[in-house]
Amino acid sequence: MVDPAPILAPVLPSVRLEVEGRSAVSQNTIPLGLRRGLQRRCPNCGEGSLFAGYLKVLKTCPRCGNDNGRYRADDGPAYFTILIVGHVVVAPLFAASIFGSWSPFVLLILGLPLVGAATLLFLPFIKGGWIGLLWATSSPSGHPSDAPSAP
Ligand SMILES: [Zn+2]
Repeated sequence: MVDPAPILAPVLPSVRLEVEGRSAVSQNTIPLGLRRGLQRRCPNCGEGSLFAGYLKVLKTCPRCGNDNGRYRADDGPAYFTILIVGHVVVAPLFAASIFGSWSPFVLLILGLPLVGAATLLFLPFIKGGWIGLLWATSSPSGHPSDAPSAP
């Protein structure tokens, strides 16, 4: 049987060869990587934990041995966490201060802990999703610049 991965790799960057006795071809789709990452699971197998603690990424998946430490999240998760918290929490607080009868001081006292709690709640899940996205879109080396390009 002909292995389709080398033929399809330039056309479908989601097709990736696996080595070391695992399946010959796996589908690395963006929704799959996002879903597994948002669940804080290894994006490669979906079973192993992605994090050793709150935000520390396990360098190697305990289930499949995937090198998850090669995906550098950098500032992406923080950016998207701020974006989401800004829309989910801060915008309603501004609306409440404009249209409501609460004083800005009360909104500040209520809003600061709410923003902090929402940020701490969302950040690990968004970081997992970000790493899942990097897994789905990067080359096996983990560097986006090495990803196969369309002809
Ligand atoms: Zn894994």
